[in-house]
Amino acid sequence: MSGNRNFIEQRAEHIYQVKVPLPFPLRFVNAYVVKGLEGYTVIDPGIHTADTEACWHEALRLMKLKYSDIQQIVLTHHHPDHYGLSGWLQQETGAQVWMSEAGKRQVDYLWGSYRRGTVDLHHLFMLHGMESQVGNALVEHMEDFIGLVSPHPKVSLINSNELFMLGDHKYQPIHAPGHAYGQLMFYRESSGELFCGDQVLPQITPNIGLLPLPGMDDNPLQSFLDSLAFISTLPIKIAYPGHRDPFVGFAERCHEIIAHHRDRLDRLIVMIDEPRNAYELCLRFFGSKLSIHQLRFAMAETLAHLAYLRELGKVTEVLSGNIVNYHRLD
Ligand SMILES: [Zn+2]
Ligand SMILES: [Zn+2]
Repeated sequence: MSGNRNFIEQRAEHIYQVKVPLPFPLRFVNAYVVKGLEGYTVIDPGIHTADTEACWHEALRLMKLKYSDIQQIVLTHHHPDHYGLSGWLQQETGAQVWMSEAGKRQVDYLWGSYRRGTVDLHHLFMLHGMESQVGNALVEHMEDFIGLVSPHPKVSLINSNELFMLGDHKYQPIHAPGHAYGQLMFYRESSGELFCGDQVLPQITPNIGLLPLPGMDDNPLQSFLDSLAFISTLPIKIAYPGHRDPFVGFAERCHEIIAHHRDRLDRLIVMIDEPRNAYELCLRFFGSKLSIHQLRFAMAETLAHLAYLRELGKVTEVLSGNIVNYHRLD
């Protein structure tokens, strides 16, 4: 990290992009540092590793800032690559950490003392045909995340009905579910700027996964497609995403992603030529050479697509023994 100045880019008079390293194939997550007369805002500081701590030491040094110049930390959503370092950065800066109420609920569910999320996810995947050996590896993998999101910050909740200050400007929080329930984007109408989290990414498509949290979102693909249909109508001039670089052509990108999911749904329905379980469909769809990390996302994504098809009346779920099979309804 040190010596590589390219990991910080000034994108506007008041916005710096900091590429924070990730221990995954995604390579980096974007944090944004927003300048303000009363202090600086950090959006999505990254995951917690020794590398990301070093990244922030170096980033602040290059921007000629002290930790105490950071006034607030804002999280678009609860995923570890965005949330994980916020507790550490709060300790270093004394800054308030802001996120949505639904995001905070998922943090507690996934990494709170009961680890309810791991237990439920394991149960869900086994119910949908995952082999027990793979299921056990998944539980271990989930436990590996604890260190990457610790310590947890003290969180203040964002009221998404009110404008929210980032630096010296007011932004409208926009709830953007699908990729992560409770995800907030921040839109500044006067400049057409949008901090879009992981809702819309250039070049790569955000993962849409089913999470077994009761009462949260049982049809995330529907929520995602509805969200994209709405946000594609906003006059966005520049979008600041959670991964890859800031981009223009926001509406076109929304439509490409919608088309990508329509295509996947068409391909998935063809694969249900006889009753099949979700794990079988996942391996057919995404291939069998996935790492456990990739498999978790692939399985959650397959379940999200199947839930969408079920709600549409295209497939039905039938319990056979202890496993759910999908039948096509022609
Ligand atoms: Zn995410
Ligand atoms: Zn992300």
